[in-house]
Amino acid sequence: MRTLDASWLVLPDHVAPGRILIQGDRISAVETAVSEPGIRPAQSTIHNPQSTIALPGLINAHTHLEQTFMRGYSANRALLDWLKHYIWKLQAAMTVEDVRLACLLGMVEALRGGATTVIQHFKLASAPAHTDAVLQTAEQLGIRLVLARAWNDRGANAEAPDAILADFDRLYAEWHGAANGRITIANGPITPWRCSADMLRRTVELARRHGAFTVCHVSETRDEVGLTVEDTGRRPVEWFDALGVLGPDFHLIHGVWVSEAERDILARRGVAVVHCPAANMILASGVAPVTALLREGVTVALGTDGPASNDGQDMIETMRLAAYLARVTTLDPQALPPRQVIDLATAHGARALGNSALGRLSPGAKADLITLDLNAAHIQPIGDPLSAVVYNARGSDVDTVIVDGRVLMAGKQVLVLDEVALLDECRDRAAHLARRAGVEI
Ligand SMILES: [Zn+2]
Repeated sequence: MRTLDASWLVLPDHVAPGRILIQGDRISAVETAVSEPGIRPAQSTIHNPQSTIALPGLINAHTHLEQTFMRGYSANRALLDWLKHYIWKLQAAMTVEDVRLACLLGMVEALRGGATTVIQHFKLASAPAHTDAVLQTAEQLGIRLVLARAWNDRGANAEAPDAILADFDRLYAEWHGAANGRITIANGPITPWRCSADMLRRTVELARRHGAFTVCHVSETRDEVGLTVEDTGRRPVEWFDALGVLGPDFHLIHGVWVSEAERDILARRGVAVVHCPAANMILASGVAPVTALLREGVTVALGTDGPASNDGQDMIETMRLAAYLARVTTLDPQALPPRQVIDLATAHGARALGNSALGRLSPGAKADLITLDLNAAHIQPIGDPLSAVVYNARGSDVDTVIVDGRVLMAGKQVLVLDEVALLDECRDRAAHLARRAGVEI
């Protein structure tokens, strides 16, 4: 039994001082000063209770962790130019060990930025060994990871349909539900314009048979919408709907350029949209209509996207950017208030994953949680603890990270590896990779 005290617990419907009891991989009880007058949070077992806030572990619903070795390449480039001339070349040159180290670095950064779960949308043309390296790394480190196996059967780096399906069979059999359910597999068609109708249908059907979901980058830029319209005569969401692939088990990543009619389809089908504010701003892609989607009842999870198009994996920052972007585009100062934006990064993320045991601090939930040390010059004194999390805190204020009941970070130290040695090794490897790929920033 482990006990965690905090000056504030961010519970599903209120915030209160209290204590969380953890047994094995689950939260066994939540005691607040209100429900249990005997509880005295001042007797913290963790840190200064005057400034500790505990939240459900944040869910980073979209990233490409291998891109930690590609930081800094996004500057001043449009999406398609950036992909063709930099990212695809570097990805193609990555060895298994490059992938292992780059992803490990990304996972450590994710934990430090408050994420306990990441959806890693991943494909390297090379081989199963690359994918397995990512999965093994997550298994050993202790983070919760969905590997959305990316694929395309059209255009550059296309794979043969049979090879894609065979790899999915292998991944579902070997990895789906591994490590006490901490590791799962998802279907990850890259974009509508690089995937055939037949393979979209077949992979979605296969995912459904395994209780897995599907993720796809859709309508990230205006140009991309045009590519699908040219191909199919329909806008991307309309085309997907006609194929029968949309449902609550479908994540539409980005959804920047969805029309009103497409929004209506998303709401009717229960599709989850994954909003990646930093990447959309850096690549000048546009602004997803988040407040309209939420008003229409659509699940909106948050993602950082890859380190190459965000340059960071900080989910605290992602929450803040989502709030800012919603405000400045709607001209409504009440758009996406702190409680709602925290819900997107927790409860909405859990709903998108189809996992009701995540995203909440309540008895029976998975013991995936974080604490932030709010005793800092950029935060104190605190008027409202939820505002402090969204508007004042940074990833570097994340103090403790617990995943599946295991403490991976405490006192701002990662407990499960030698972080200094990892940084040294990654610096070396990334420099070699850029030389091999013949790419310069
Ligand atoms: Zn992406």
